Amino acid sequence: MPDEPSSVTSPAVTVSRRGSDRLRQGHVWVYRSDILSADGVAPGAAVGVADERGKFLGTALYSSASQIAIRMLSRATVGDLEGLLRQRIHDAIAYRERVVQDSDAYRVIFSEADFLPGLIVDRYNDMLALQILTQAMDAEPTRQIVLSELAGRLQPEAMIERVEPKIRELEQLPPRSSGLLQGEKASTLFSMNGVKFHYSSAEGQKTGAFLDQRENYAAAAQYAHGEALDVFCYHGGFALHLARSCSKVTGVDSSRPALEVGERNATLNGREIEWIEANAFDLLRDYASAGQQFDTIVLDPPAFARSRRNLDTALRGYKELNLRALKMLRPGGVLVTCSCSYHVSVADFIAVVAEAGRDVHRNLRILENRAQAKDHPILLSVPETAYLKCLIVDVTN
Ligand code: SAH
Repeated sequence: MPDEPSSVTSPAVTVSRRGSDRLRQGHVWVYRSDILSADGVAPGAAVGVADERGKFLGTALYSSASQIAIRMLSRATVGDLEGLLRQRIHDAIAYRERVVQDSDAYRVIFSEADFLPGLIVDRYNDMLALQILTQAMDAEPTRQIVLSELAGRLQPEAMIERVEPKIRELEQLPPRSSGLLQGEKASTLFSMNGVKFHYSSAEGQKTGAFLDQRENYAAAAQYAHGEALDVFCYHGGFALHLARSCSKVTGVDSSRPALEVGERNATLNGREIEWIEANAFDLLRDYASAGQQFDTIVLDPPAFARSRRNLDTALRGYKELNLRALKMLRPGGVLVTCSCSYHVSVADFIAVVAEAGRDVHRNLRILENRAQAKDHPILLSVPETAYLKCLIVDVTN
């Protein structure tokens, strides 16, 4: 975390030894169980943090409700919170100018990884979609600073907020509905890697698309060939990219509205893609037993492990999917297999895919071991910022 010019505020939150050790190691969260005192601290306040001996550790944003009680903002005292927020938004935008290519859709601000904990901002061409995840970021003055800085720097036609009711509940924030924060526009078109997509601010998952896969789409398209199956295809992110090099592409998802957007996207790009509404587990089982074969298969399921507790169940789910897909690949085939569960490590995931390969007697060679796109930076001191795994594997007999 960058140091900031200091001014003096007296510490208002004291953290335990475990909490201060965690901060000294570079993490930015302290859990409620490691807070020794936070007397009189207002929900969402910026506070000074001290260890149990009273040594100053930095400035954090406080939540009175979340299990994550504080998220560090700076190792120094922060005299000018507004100036700090504006500078960090500026820096986040400048970082994207360096790392994003061939796309007018990308994550502009990724919470802790941009030193703006609790704030997510995605750009879809001329629209911005915001997610506000903490009491501090939800405070009206903070919202106004964020909106004015984003508007000034990026001049979007519209800014919308996507509300996750469950997060507001956890933060004990009053209910709020998703919708426009500024401007009138409700939909637009965006493009990445030369592929065009429809964006509608009122529909879809996350802030509308899975921007974290942007670089993986391009990588997968490099190896894809023949007949391709995109499982858990959503709006067709992989499918549309594969259509450039494959003779036939089929997309599978259980969500009809998602497939309808996929079909509109195919039309927009002049592609023909077959869309199947089905439970992926059932469909893969039926296809595998019917002896159906493909040259390229993409697996991009939703997060199976939402917490460490269901890690084993999640790993079984990944194993099952990969096993079925591997059975159906022709020799020389390509498997693109993803996991967006933070709790499943890269090593766990590789082990599961390797096991599936062993069980079906296929040789697997890793073409690429990938993660999330660079506009979703991984901050090494905050392991939670690394969550997406994407293996591209060459499959032979
Ligand atoms: N590959 C997509 C993102 C996939 S997100 C992209 O790059 O944009 C996960 C998708 O899985 C969602 O679209 C969701 O509707 C779908 N899904 C969830 N459970 C499913 C199931 N059991 N069978 C098929 N699709 C499922």
